[in-house]
Amino acid sequence: MELCVVSTKIHYEDSQPNVVVPYADVNGTTAILDAVKLNLANQGLKPRLIRMERDFSYDQLFRRLWDARQPFILVEHDIIPFPGALRELWMCPEPWCGFPYYVFGELRSYLGCTKFDPSRLGECPLPDDLMPWQTIDKLIEKSLMKRTFGGHLHSPPVTHLNFFHSRASGRENVHPVFWSTE
Ligand SMILES: [Zn+2]
Repeated sequence: MELCVVSTKIHYEDSQPNVVVPYADVNGTTAILDAVKLNLANQGLKPRLIRMERDFSYDQLFRRLWDARQPFILVEHDIIPFPGALRELWMCPEPWCGFPYYVFGELRSYLGCTKFDPSRLGECPLPDDLMPWQTIDKLIEKSLMKRTFGGHLHSPPVTHLNFFHSRASGRENVHPVFWSTE
């Protein structure tokens, strides 16, 4: 029997999603991050957790991931994707995708649960100067949209375990599905 290699190209379906979780200390507790880790582990995912030490760490991480030219999925440290959500992003043919989640009571899609395929989106969408973490989502979005890319929105929304947002907006808006309580 003769063996032949049909293709050396990685198939998304066969590959483990490249999931990165940037994290920082939140209110001196690791409880939320533990929930995020547990959720991803339960789905058979092997995320890389990367600690954000400084204001510019998120920017530097994003540039590093972009320069590697491989698709990646960002899951921020308080986002709970439902089972199958990240594999759906990973297998989607679009180069820039995300799930929405509640941000101060409004459903939005920022960087919290997002896939990028840098090789299909051009050069890094961040400006030359390092930017603080609070600003990079809008900068990335603006820059990619200027190149006429549109973020592909998936649904349903994912959970955002941010109780500060919930308290500040006075609405129960952590989880997109409201279950009944008795
Ligand atoms: Zn998509």
